Amino acid sequence: MREEGGYTPRVTVIIPTYNEADAIEERLNNIYSQDYPREKLEIIVVDSASADGTPAVVEKWAEQHLDIKVLLIREEQRRGKANALNHALRYATGEVVAIADADALWAPEALRRAVAKLADPTVGAVSCVKRPLNGRGIEEGYRGFYNQLRVAESKLWSTPIFHGELAAFRREALEAVGGFPTDIGADDSYTATQIALRGLRAIVADDVLCTEAVPRRDYHAWRIRRAQHLIQHFAKAIRRLHKAPPPFRGVLAAEAYLHVVNPWLLAGAVAALAASAAAGSLPALAILALGAALLAYKPYRVWTAAQAYLITAAVKNLWTKELIWKKQKK
Ligand code: GDP
Ligand code: MN
Repeated sequence: MREEGGYTPRVTVIIPTYNEADAIEERLNNIYSQDYPREKLEIIVVDSASADGTPAVVEKWAEQHLDIKVLLIREEQRRGKANALNHALRYATGEVVAIADADALWAPEALRRAVAKLADPTVGAVSCVKRPLNGRGIEEGYRGFYNQLRVAESKLWSTPIFHGELAAFRREALEAVGGFPTDIGADDSYTATQIALRGLRAIVADDVLCTEAVPRRDYHAWRIRRAQHLIQHFAKAIRRLHKAPPPFRGVLAAEAYLHVVNPWLLAGAVAALAASAAAGSLPALAILALGAALLAYKPYRVWTAAQAYLITAAVKNLWTKELIWKKQKK
């Protein structure tokens, strides 16, 4: 892959905020101290009617940091993250647009490295490897495994799963796909996938690092909501599978299968075994007991939990898409 340290285009960093007064100052400092020419940076904070004073914190910060361009957009009504991102996009002037969730942090060289990947004209979008902050054991296990998968898929060609904690796009590519989708939750992943379907690579780079806050309470609800969004994304993206460039087709099909179909095989197998065991089958009981005992092994427990979140999410998707979600304490 061609990568150029000398490629330093104008970059617009978009921070979407809803009640992020506790996090926004550290986040702005984090972007300010990126190892990237400051005069090439522009920050757009798009706030959707926060009730905790987030905009005032941003205004004060901007007054104290006059050597970086900051634009604050205040929406009077909360219409969800994707709508807010599209709103901000209309004001973006950078050749590269990077989404930066407020509750995440970038490693100091993350932006420079992400932009360097975009020097390669075949790459259209770049995301980060995520490390959970204050994560529980299960989140650490889940992340460790899925980070490797994202990087491996990216080396094959592209990954269909992106992270709003750092998602950098060529602005032209972003505009060509019509911005962020407002009818599904995983705006970052869906947009990256659309770009890949149009022939530019969408990659998670293993040297682009970020951290994200994980809710201490409500961890399960958080995982279920994210699973809902991923299912919505794959259900929509799979319809354009035939358009996928060959190396991406297999990856997109496999991930859609793993998120939408596979969890139900586990549920079906457990149900069938439980029915047989209840009818007196000792082998069925033995397999169930073995399955339960295996839960002591962490990677298996992490995988099983992921299936349980996906099943719950699929059911919940029947009545709510969670496009505007409750802010969780992290
Ligand atoms: P999670 O990472 O999936 O738990 O989602 P978050 O709650 O952390 O949201 C991701 C980012 O989007 C954060 O910076 C939020 O403040 C922001 N966000 C969430 N909902 C909205 C919204 O309705 N409007 C705007 N402008 N930002 C939002
Ligand atoms: Mn978050």
